[in-house]
Amino acid sequence: MKKPSSKKPPAADSSRDTRPQIRVGLLEGYEKISLRVNGPFAVENLKGETLRPMAPSNLKWRVRVEETVPSQFIYSVLVTTFADKEEAIALAENLEKEGSHAYVRSLGNPVEVQGNILRDNTRYRVQVGNFENSDDAEELLELFMDDYAPRVVRELMRRVTGKVEFFDAKLEESWVSDDGVRIIPADLTVETKIHSVRVGTGFRWETEEDRSYSGIVEIRLDHDGKLSAISEVPIDVYLRGVVPSEMPAGFPHEALKAQAVAARSEVLAKLHTKHLNDPFDVCGTEHCQVYAGVTQEDPRTNEAVIETSGEVLMRDGILMDAVYSAVCGGHTEDAARVWASPPINAAEGIWCTLHDDLKKIDLTTEDGAREWILSKPKVCCNIPAKLLPVAPDYIHRHFRWEVTYNRAEFEKIIARNTGQDIGTFYDIIPLERGVSGRLMHIEILGSNRNLKIKKELNIRRALSPTMLESSCFIVDIQLDEEGLPVEITLSGAGWGHGAGMCQVGAAHMAVKGKTYQEILTHYYRSSTISRCYSLPTSNDSCE
Ligand SMILES: [Zn+2]
Ligand SMILES: [Zn+2]
Repeated sequence: MKKPSSKKPPAADSSRDTRPQIRVGLLEGYEKISLRVNGPFAVENLKGETLRPMAPSNLKWRVRVEETVPSQFIYSVLVTTFADKEEAIALAENLEKEGSHAYVRSLGNPVEVQGNILRDNTRYRVQVGNFENSDDAEELLELFMDDYAPRVVRELMRRVTGKVEFFDAKLEESWVSDDGVRIIPADLTVETKIHSVRVGTGFRWETEEDRSYSGIVEIRLDHDGKLSAISEVPIDVYLRGVVPSEMPAGFPHEALKAQAVAARSEVLAKLHTKHLNDPFDVCGTEHCQVYAGVTQEDPRTNEAVIETSGEVLMRDGILMDAVYSAVCGGHTEDAARVWASPPINAAEGIWCTLHDDLKKIDLTTEDGAREWILSKPKVCCNIPAKLLPVAPDYIHRHFRWEVTYNRAEFEKIIARNTGQDIGTFYDIIPLERGVSGRLMHIEILGSNRNLKIKKELNIRRALSPTMLESSCFIVDIQLDEEGLPVEITLSGAGWGHGAGMCQVGAAHMAVKGKTYQEILTHYYRSSTISRCYSLPTSNDSCE
């Protein structure tokens, strides 16, 4: 074991790079991690002190845990979140009067890029309770279900500590370091290949593959005292990895550029709002955005990222949270209504069409939603397959869809997904629809109890073995002679939450000759595209 030198490594190229750096959680829960680096690299401890000076090595390297004390958390119920402190305090006081131990937690920070503040992500959470285990908090959830979309959250009380060992396959070099190590490549062309990354954990298609990452790779203890890996890269490198998993790389070029700008805006807009207990900004799974590093890049999406480098969507001088979804179904949704903690400065719902002659129906009504869902309007995301260079089959499967369950099957799905036994299923009552026809609040009627479910994602999770395509659906129930449901059919429109840019609609607009600016200002009304950072140049003095 060698002693860390207090000297910082010689400045690599990346020290001139003042683009925002994104820390992506790649994996966690590993007993050991093995990797190979295809160029010169240094190794630092987590304090930034050099363990191994910059040099190449063809060997395989391993990291393993030596000893560890796991993180400690406390649990509480997050009732709801506000951007305004006064509103949060008012609600907490009300809940307190009603007998709950409620309090306000402030979280998040302003998002600063190259010296400019693009938006303020400080948020005020109204929370209830303080428990050592999550079960006690779970029990309180029901108190707030009718009026909010509450969930159990945990806060870090004490971060994991321990030692990890980093050594080569021939055991020629080895270091033991507190809590983790950082692998610092000479520049962004050097790749770190992590072997046997588990892909699709929790799904049937779980498999292992090697994945390569450019930029810094940090291997450190996760909360359970196992190993995790984090990739630290300039935002454009991150986007080169995520854009092809967010939109098919064979989509028209202007649509890919629109996607790159939307994804860049969303990533920056959500900084300091997710993974608040974790030492990274975003994770590399569907929860945030799928990031598989260099392995996943495609020259066509790379070009879209490079051509739009630094460009983001602004509205009223504030960076937009430019959410997007696959197929809106014909009308996009108000982003403010989709999430329990509404994204600040996100898009309002619009018709997904370039023509004025579309029959405009009120989709918030039951009759309107039924007429809309059972029709196939000529909107942008209803695109003939032959018009696209690649036409994934999801477009037609999801523009309009239908799923049928028998009653017993449906009752089981509801019980498993909500944890509530409603008894015999009777009916679903729509309580509220958004502007796209998406259900935002429903009540399920059953013989044991009725159950209200709020927010589109919760509704989609509750009513499907996996996840419903969207919450824009109508319910038809076939009854037996006694008036009990036999079969339940959900007929729906669209795939995804439907807020912001409709990706298939964007592809159609691009086919029709629209530029990425036209596409973006169509889906994100009143927005402007502005460049919030510049690429590093050799003359760039970043201090
Ligand atoms: Zn995540
Ligand atoms: Zn659409």
